Amino acid sequence: MRGVKAEGGWAVVSTEEAEIHPSSDLSPFAEQRIWDERDIPALRLITDAVHEHDALAAIELVHNGHHVANLYSRTPPLAPSGVTVNALQPKQARAMNKSDIRQLRQWHRRAIGNAKRAGFDIVYVYAGHHMSIAHHFLSTRFNQRTDEYGGSLTNRLRLTRELLEDAQDEAAGECAIAFRFAVDDLLDSDGIRAHEEGRAVVELLSELPDLWDVNVAGWDNDSQTARFAPEEGYQEQYTSFVKQVTRKPVVGVGRYTSPDRMVSLIRRGVLDFIGAARPSIADPFLPSKIEDWRVEEICECIGCNICIASDNSCVPIRCTQNPTMGEEWRRGWHPARTTGKTSDDAVLVVGAGPAGLECACQLSERGYKVALAETGAELGGRVLRESRLKGLATWLRVRDFREHKLAARANVDIHRDSNLSAEDLLAFDFPHVVIATGASWRRDGVGRSTRHPLHADKTIRILTPDDIMQGVAIDPGPVVIFDDEQAYLGGVIADHLSDEHDDITLVTPAGVVSPWTDNTLEQERIQAALIRQGVKLRVSQKIAGVSDEHAETACVFTGRTDPMPCKTLVLVTERSPNTALADALREAMAGQAEHRLQTVEEIGDCLAPGLIADAVFSGHLAARNFQRDPAAVEQELFRREMPSLP
Ligand code: ADP
Ligand code: SF4
Repeated sequence: MRGVKAEGGWAVVSTEEAEIHPSSDLSPFAEQRIWDERDIPALRLITDAVHEHDALAAIELVHNGHHVANLYSRTPPLAPSGVTVNALQPKQARAMNKSDIRQLRQWHRRAIGNAKRAGFDIVYVYAGHHMSIAHHFLSTRFNQRTDEYGGSLTNRLRLTRELLEDAQDEAAGECAIAFRFAVDDLLDSDGIRAHEEGRAVVELLSELPDLWDVNVAGWDNDSQTARFAPEEGYQEQYTSFVKQVTRKPVVGVGRYTSPDRMVSLIRRGVLDFIGAARPSIADPFLPSKIEDWRVEEICECIGCNICIASDNSCVPIRCTQNPTMGEEWRRGWHPARTTGKTSDDAVLVVGAGPAGLECACQLSERGYKVALAETGAELGGRVLRESRLKGLATWLRVRDFREHKLAARANVDIHRDSNLSAEDLLAFDFPHVVIATGASWRRDGVGRSTRHPLHADKTIRILTPDDIMQGVAIDPGPVVIFDDEQAYLGGVIADHLSDEHDDITLVTPAGVVSPWTDNTLEQERIQAALIRQGVKLRVSQKIAGVSDEHAETACVFTGRTDPMPCKTLVLVTERSPNTALADALREAMAGQAEHRLQTVEEIGDCLAPGLIADAVFSGHLAARNFQRDPAAVEQELFRREMPSLP
């Protein structure tokens, strides 16, 4: 994955945080590790892959202090002062004594030596989030020490200064030392403010690192979604002062995908380098596209944080826009290369949502002649529909990037306003049909918490997310949204409708709203936004029935029911795959001996409803495997990391 990024033109490719010692063990999350020399061979694979493309390799060394619970290593967590660990575990970190501090410096030095041996060109000292011990010492929230490591800013900064001095000494000019520093905690009180202590820190350490890498803390502020930070460059107001205080080069992030914006940052003297995690995930070839004047081909990050959700779910990285991300080694996929066609057959793809669009892109990339048919006048399917909701406008980039690609290809025909039937498909000349007809939200109340349909009641109008996305008018009176899915859409719809309606209640069986969005770092923001918008929240409740202008909620623990006024009930429960076309086609094929159709394959939400990222992946996978030997495809399990015991 990192080799692909280097090939795509990134000048420096850096690891994520790399734990330097077993007392900094972020299990169960898959974090980079450099605990000892046994980690060197795996890290060497990274640096070799990066160097192969003449880029520099960087590693972010970190001790996570009390951010970790050390569940794997079973080591007591460490902190400047005794505090409860940040992970939701009944554990506390112990206050470090002077000998602990000396040991920490030794571990850090050893990690730098091992990083050098692994071939890294840039080694980071890390205080970029609330997750690092350097930050914990700096923060008055966590540092109540009375010795020379606590109290004044100079004292709280002492450990960071020592780590930086040790790093420069250990690097001995053979690699550069970068310092990642969050200039602002974005806290109401008790935190570092960019133009106060944040600036003072940069002044005090100004020339000590070789490179300043600046951002804001914590991670949820640093990696904001487009829903809450719609514009790229949202960190600029905090970090722009840094270049005025140091002569060393400065790098910063901000979900930058626009080359104009990048140039402006350099010209205005805000940054020397453009840093990017998510834009490089969505498009590992972003720099080379700029270099080759192919900026219209950039695949822009949509700011959905599915990449972060995969990290938080302890699986390899996934990306909505880039289905090859995380599959470079596992499946041998490359974002800019694929295998050529193996026949001159033409393929008809039915449905132009994310699955159909991606499948058509990838098939045409392979050289197949492709026709893409869509019922609607516009392409996009669910990304078109969902992008109409508050905060989700950038999701249309999933369509725009692919529509732009398809429009430029001579081997692709796009047919809008074409609602195809099974008879149409049989009458056409295509030997292969891929069905990507999506899924529809259920209207009967069946979902996670209720497996039986609700009894309809004439006094209450039942709507689905599909109705809301189509913009149906809401009748006056109380609106109840039942979010049984508990992902993002229920909260989005509540927020969306609350701009126009003032009597909205969100009912969820969960203890908080949209609990899945903890994965995307959005849950607290969503709950705060709904409270501010005046949306009433009923947690730990499900809808048990509807009658006489009332919805009856039931406590998920006790079953105790409670009626609430309701004129409109929006059910965000489950989706039914739209299989009617595929079912009818198979039936018609069975009854008609003479037809030209050879293969029919379903992809995306009509196969199994999921995230947009899942639909894109499904379309990509089907196209990659199209006309490959089925036995080979079945046998070809993706590669995985296997335990190797000494
Ligand atoms: P996915 O997420 O799997 O891509 P979507 O719901 O986003 O699914 O998209 C499915 C698309 O298929 C929609 O745009 C819909 O209009 C289109 N579609 C559904 N049935 C037909 C059909 N019979 N003919 C052409 N297009 C269809
Ligand atoms: Fe951007 Fe979403 Fe891809 Fe992450 S998953 S890089 S936020 S498009």
